[in-house]
Amino acid sequence: MYRGHLVLVNADHPVRGDHAPDLAAVAGGDSIHVLDERIALESLCLRRLASLVADAEAQDDIVVVSGYRSKQEQTAIYEDSLRENGEAYTASYVALPGRSEHQTGLAVDVGARVEGELDFIAPSFPDEGGCLAFKRLAASHGFVQRYKEGKEAVTGIACEPWHYRYVGAPHAAWMESLDLCLEEYIAYLRMFSFDGERLAYAEEGWRAEIYYVPAEETGVTAVTVPACDAYTLSGNNVDGFIVTVYEGAGYEG
Ligand SMILES: [Zn+2]
Repeated sequence: MYRGHLVLVNADHPVRGDHAPDLAAVAGGDSIHVLDERIALESLCLRRLASLVADAEAQDDIVVVSGYRSKQEQTAIYEDSLRENGEAYTASYVALPGRSEHQTGLAVDVGARVEGELDFIAPSFPDEGGCLAFKRLAASHGFVQRYKEGKEAVTGIACEPWHYRYVGAPHAAWMESLDLCLEEYIAYLRMFSFDGERLAYAEEGWRAEIYYVPAEETGVTAVTVPACDAYTLSGNNVDGFIVTVYEGAGYEG
């Protein structure tokens, strides 16, 4: 229940479980600029980020500022920010250690590539050029802007135009069209089930059905999956699992 591409991580739902994310370095063959050669992301998140940056033709406009962080790194960032920026700013923009989705490897901070020093906590990511193309194409590659204006009371984090979270294309599409942040989307999915209504999404070449399976209190949950071409199973890090069933060859994860 604590792993998968749809885990909800926030102040109320810390990173749990002792599994290590399947990480890959961002620097290398994918022609994405990085602030630091050591930046890594969960491997599917990285593949989709590379396809998004290429699709947006934004290779030279964007730099990856931050990706996976261990709990120790998040602690260091939090404490540095407290010292440099004070309590109010830090509470708005930096998640508590153990409660940052950067610890899943599924979150990436991106900034506009500029001359001179870049703001690590709050990089500029404007609505222009390659950055704007990235924003417009993000959902089709499975990414959502995780902390939006107007959702501060739900997410507990101020608007962060630079912080993207990989959730997968059908989920990103539904979150965008319903204007739901991840907290709201995870709650919304509880109305869908294998036997009842499923949330459907169709693209050219593939379609998906999405439903929720509550975790059994015994600790063992049976998940029923219909005949399909592929499926993914993700814990929600709260109380159950989300099944995404795919039909068609165009599905890319
Ligand atoms: Zn971030």
